[in-house]
Amino acid sequence: MSFSLLDILFPRTCACCETPLNSHEQEICLHCLSDLPTTNYHFQQDNAVGQRFDGKIPYEHATAYLSFQKGSRYREAIHLMKYHHRPHIGTILGRYAAAELQQVYADATLLLPIPLHPARLRRRGYNQSLYIARGMSQIMQIPIDERSVIRTVKNETQTARHGYERYLNTRDIFRVIHPESLSGQHILIVDDVVTTGSTIESCAHAILQAATDVRISIFALAAT
Ligand SMILES: [Zn+2]
Repeated sequence: MSFSLLDILFPRTCACCETPLNSHEQEICLHCLSDLPTTNYHFQQDNAVGQRFDGKIPYEHATAYLSFQKGSRYREAIHLMKYHHRPHIGTILGRYAAAELQQVYADATLLLPIPLHPARLRRRGYNQSLYIARGMSQIMQIPIDERSVIRTVKNETQTARHGYERYLNTRDIFRVIHPESLSGQHILIVDDVVTTGSTIESCAHAILQAATDVRISIFALAAT
């Protein structure tokens, strides 16, 4: 292992296991990267992520790269990525995901990270899904569209909502402002963590209504 003077002055630690990183490592140590809890959902067309969208929106492929239990050190890394100013964790994991999944999404033409509401983007300072998409784009050589869809509703309280109320709540939280950039594309929607899938569903719904001749695929870095 080699350490630079900067590492000694400002020790960087692995987002998963907190061991010091050497100068060749970024955000996550090689040991943790070699042990990622991948779902392998991309080997199954009918998988636990796709099932969340069956009958709701038409999609080509849907998968999540990682799956973990409560208390997993990988869950901690996702938390740091989202809430503690370490969005580059997303870029690194996005690269790893794309290297494994690019066959599945080979004919996608556009990466569309789920937009944050402008107020939340200002507060957080970054959109973690955009950082994930950047990592994927580096491997897949597909452009990112971060301007055609905007989020108009903050949707903060979603976890407390159920059933029809949640459906109404998530139905119109996105608006497509540049449908012409999306028409004719196979759009790969990129999200950080998929839970019920209602946010992605709402985004896909807005796209399908506004643009013509569009195909949708779905990627989440992790699934709960
Ligand atoms: Zn580690």
